[in-house]
Amino acid sequence: MDRYEQVTELARRRGIMWPAFELYGGAAGFYDYGPLGALLKRKIEDTWRRFFVIGEGFAEIEAPTIGVEGIFAASGHLSGFSDPLTECQECKEVYRADHLIKHIVEVPDALSNEEIGRIIHENDIFCPECGGELSEIYEFNLMFKTTIGPGSTHPGYLRPETAQGMFINFPRLLRYFRDALPFGAVQIGKSYRNEISPRQGVIRLREFTQAEAEVFIDPRDKTHPRFPEVSDLTLRLYSQEAQERGVIDEMTLEDAVKRGIIAHQMLAYYVARTYQFLMAVGVAPERMRFRQHKADEMAHYAADCWDAEVLLERLGWIEIVGIADRTDYDLKSHMTHSQAKLTVFVPYAEPKLRQRLVVKPDMKALGPRFKGKAKAVAEALKSLDEEGLKGDVICVVVEGETVTIERDLVSFEVVEEAIRGEEVIPHVIEPSFGIDRIIYTVLDHSYSQEEVDGESRAVLRFIPAMAPLQVAVLPLMDRPELAQPAEALLQAFRREGIMAEYDTSGSIGRRYRRNDEVGTPFCVTIDYETIEEATVTIRDRDSMGQVRVPKESVVEIVSALVKGEVEFLDAGRPEEST
Ligand code: AMP
Repeated sequence: MDRYEQVTELARRRGIMWPAFELYGGAAGFYDYGPLGALLKRKIEDTWRRFFVIGEGFAEIEAPTIGVEGIFAASGHLSGFSDPLTECQECKEVYRADHLIKHIVEVPDALSNEEIGRIIHENDIFCPECGGELSEIYEFNLMFKTTIGPGSTHPGYLRPETAQGMFINFPRLLRYFRDALPFGAVQIGKSYRNEISPRQGVIRLREFTQAEAEVFIDPRDKTHPRFPEVSDLTLRLYSQEAQERGVIDEMTLEDAVKRGIIAHQMLAYYVARTYQFLMAVGVAPERMRFRQHKADEMAHYAADCWDAEVLLERLGWIEIVGIADRTDYDLKSHMTHSQAKLTVFVPYAEPKLRQRLVVKPDMKALGPRFKGKAKAVAEALKSLDEEGLKGDVICVVVEGETVTIERDLVSFEVVEEAIRGEEVIPHVIEPSFGIDRIIYTVLDHSYSQEEVDGESRAVLRFIPAMAPLQVAVLPLMDRPELAQPAEALLQAFRREGIMAEYDTSGSIGRRYRRNDEVGTPFCVTIDYETIEEATVTIRDRDSMGQVRVPKESVVEIVSALVKGEVEFLDAGRPEEST
């Protein structure tokens, strides 16, 4: 069994996650999170909230997961969110046509369907399963389609990303943020993509959870006031240029921005926060890098785009987060499709003075002369510039007719005006996180298989605060005199908001192993000394070391250990370790 199989087998067996619909034969691309998986997922999402909602002051919203057609016409998903497919004429297996020529063309995404078809034909490519002839290439849209209400007049689509919810709510969000840039809005929720052949567990799902932030900024200022907080951070960057060399660079974000490797501070700032978040949930830094999209991979509208990628043993480098400068593409497109105004009035630091020509036609004279046409004549005169007002007579064209007016019937003056600001379409910086991929990564990077006293033990070395179960309460033996104080301790942990489990089955060694396997960072054992001397043992998952502490302070100590306020070695004396 490779690591991927070991981790997924453990996850299935111990109630973390498993393929959905098992009772009815399953369907690829859908997963259930079990009791421990759901707890882990919630913790990762809440850590994300701590970073982006609390830490950055972004507003969390919740929009419907079904959207109307207009949204996806504007976003480009209706016409462009599709993959080229080909079907075996014999066994009916369906393939991504571009994947079949990956060994021939380096970037098949850039090719038209005709070109892919020609390459398949010229290189004698047949069905990889049965060798059958492949069909013409056709486009398959990845959005799940449904109907809103009965009949077919109102199509609906399950959203392929949460981002559109923020874009189409832009006017209300702008008002919420008192009409000023920059501001951010986020959603954590389900997205749906009818992926062609999802075969990589939770890495490629048809229903998955995204956490996305859309940060609306002034396009003329891509600095970030808090960049100095993160500019010293050294990250593993795999820029376009580094990819040519095939080496990952390590450099500070300060350097990366200065040397133009990351386009600007705004993007670099969110790269940094992404890194810090991934570290906080337990992604291994040495198996993580930030890779810049290559020019032919980047969306045409994007100014720059970086993916957080993680190394997974079987799957190689996998994208778990995308951080992009999407410019004004989305808002502009929604503005065209919806006719709504999606701009912001941005005041100048100092009002700009501008000279303006004000033309004043003599309406007392022009009114009687032109009657019904007088207003149109006046408008035509008002739109003239200084050049047009020269000479003894002025000519204007009104309703297709040239009209001549004496110069002394039109006066004009140049006035000075203060322009306070201008309407701009904000640019959008988007950090987009795939929660399921992050969960799998945390499992994979936390997992280890070790030999202890000739026995093997599997451990999930979760960061204590991320562990689904934080403490296990274990009476040494299943006897009433030990069970009763153990039960009381379990309730004391629960009252403190600590996720605790009670386990009496099997030898104490087996129970430790079971808790190691689901990553419970601490076990508290109740034995006869508990009754005689009012002490309990805390056993540490990682070192397997044990300390005896007074029973009355164990809740406080475990609480401090879980929060990372004290190290295990100091567990008996938390007050001294600050
Ligand atoms: P994208 O909009 O394709 O850049 O996706 C944003 C993030 O969502 C990616 O970084 C992935 O982590 C995640 N993601 C995209 N597609 C899937 C999928 N089919 N299953 C699970 N996660 C996905």
